[in-house]
Amino acid sequence: MLHPLDAVEAAERAYRENRAPLAAVEGFIRQILGWREYMWHLYWHFGPEYPANNQLSARTTLPSWWADLDADAVTARCLRDALEGVRDRGWTHHIQRLMVLGSHALQRGYRPDQLTEWFATAYVDGFRWVMPTNVIGMSQHADGGLLATKPYTSAGAYINKMSDHCGDCDFDPKKRLGEDACPFTAGYWAFTHRHRNLLARNHRTRRAVSSMDRLGDLEAVIEQESARDRF
Ligand code: SF4
Repeated sequence: MLHPLDAVEAAERAYRENRAPLAAVEGFIRQILGWREYMWHLYWHFGPEYPANNQLSARTTLPSWWADLDADAVTARCLRDALEGVRDRGWTHHIQRLMVLGSHALQRGYRPDQLTEWFATAYVDGFRWVMPTNVIGMSQHADGGLLATKPYTSAGAYINKMSDHCGDCDFDPKKRLGEDACPFTAGYWAFTHRHRNLLARNHRTRRAVSSMDRLGDLEAVIEQESARDRF
């Protein structure tokens, strides 16, 4: 077992002795000290009731294709690639965790308790102490903002910028309406509409609500998303 401070100090030494670049050492130390340790202490600080939080009243049961890691049933390239990663390696990059899998679950209102259990059992690093704060707090905002200052989700444009999936996808990240409407783009507006009061009160998300109010086709998008069964 390594003490986190030993790992941090070893990385710092490597930088000072010119054996590792600053950007890599900074990223490593930030992840160990600024995130892993933060999660560890919050786990003890929040206590055993924390995983039961569901402040956004998310009640959708995890679909079977998600629970069974049936990536082949998924059309959306970004989502499919992330599920394949979990199925084949029990691991995905943290952007895929937060901004693909987590964002999808948040937009579709998946139950945070089921989602936490899924992350804890499907991932090779899904330790019991690490997933509640990451999933309930960071990813699903189910604690009402105890851990993070806003819900993290995005439309397809963000995924398009951060990955190379959209070019090969049957959906179009710029479209919110129609057969090829991106489920993340349309889902983003459906989520914003569902939680407009909460988002309008938060200065970090207020602008999303005003942008939504300017959409001429919002009602049609919401109707479309409430019936969506293809992702
Ligand atoms: S178009 Fe939408 S669903 Fe397809 S890869 Fe891009 S973000 Fe994902």
